[in-house]
Amino acid sequence: MIPTTMKACQLVAFNTNEMREVPVPEPMDGEVLCKIRAIAICGTDPEIIHGKLKAKMNWPPVFPFTLGHEWSGEVVKLGTGVKGFKVGDRVAGEAHRGCGSCANCMKGNYTLCLNYGDVASGHRHYGFVTPGANAEYNVYSTKALRKIPDNLSFAHAALLDTAGVALHGIDMIGVTPGGNAAVWGPGAIGLMSVQMIKAMGAKNIIVVGRGKRLQMAGELGATHLVDYEKGDPVKTVLEITGGVGVDEIQECSGGAVALDQCLAAVRKGGKINMLGFYDDADVVLPPITRIVMNEITLTGSRANPNVSDRVLNMFAAGLIAGDKVVTHTFPLESYNAALETYLTRKDGAIKVVIEPWKQA
Ligand SMILES: [Zn+2]
Ligand SMILES: [Zn+2]
Repeated sequence: MIPTTMKACQLVAFNTNEMREVPVPEPMDGEVLCKIRAIAICGTDPEIIHGKLKAKMNWPPVFPFTLGHEWSGEVVKLGTGVKGFKVGDRVAGEAHRGCGSCANCMKGNYTLCLNYGDVASGHRHYGFVTPGANAEYNVYSTKALRKIPDNLSFAHAALLDTAGVALHGIDMIGVTPGGNAAVWGPGAIGLMSVQMIKAMGAKNIIVVGRGKRLQMAGELGATHLVDYEKGDPVKTVLEITGGVGVDEIQECSGGAVALDQCLAAVRKGGKINMLGFYDDADVVLPPITRIVMNEITLTGSRANPNVSDRVLNMFAAGLIAGDKVVTHTFPLESYNAALETYLTRKDGAIKVVIEPWKQA
């Protein structure tokens, strides 16, 4: 039996999350109702909670608002016109669902939908402008859903988004088999990137970071760990590559000096993809001439379009895993404690997952 009301953790004002009893939403045409089994806290969640993305992105659009966009669960009810999904399916979600008919969506670039935020067009951005998963249930367009492999736990399936962001970034720049790749920032996206780059055959995988997360990168396949607190990371990367620089860099740190460092550490003709959330006012701009004279390909990547099937195949095949990335789980009632654990990196926290149906 599906109840008429449910618990949801809502952002009621900046810096204030509250557990509230709210109606269980009804699935509309092409949508399904899902019982939410796991939600991973993303780096953008605290930014939204702290009000840092209101002026830039209008997130959240209203109060109260239910955040949470990296999730997995079970289909419990079908709306009209649903094909390919049935009650009981284990699924995980993408945050973006494009309108499907604008010029960008028509090209498959649905995270860049030109009707962003226009609900009437069919656009959804779950947990950002459309209610998200920090609740016992939520409704989703089946276009934003994937069935997950039997051998993938709900907690790890909630990494579909994180791993997808990593893969979309790698799609931008590729991986040279037998070559030298680097990852700046061994957070959850960086650690999934390391595993994928390893699976794609780079000889050296250099990771720039610090602390427990850097150590974890070594356990997940990085060949060289560069602690930026212990010296100039650019100098070390150049030493490792015989003065040439790396073929590709996945920049996941979002740091103010990251672009400057990456442009100095990539080889001539190399490629850099940036996917962090940067504080534009603080970013140190490098000499742009380096991009021209060294023919550097510099890309940005947003979210995770067209990668979910490959991500799930990699999980199923054991090429990537969530074991070392998901470090903590909490019940929904303990959202604030979970957020605190995530933000302070308490007990080596990397990815913190909320399980709404787990008892406290
Ligand atoms: Zn996310
Ligand atoms: Zn669109």
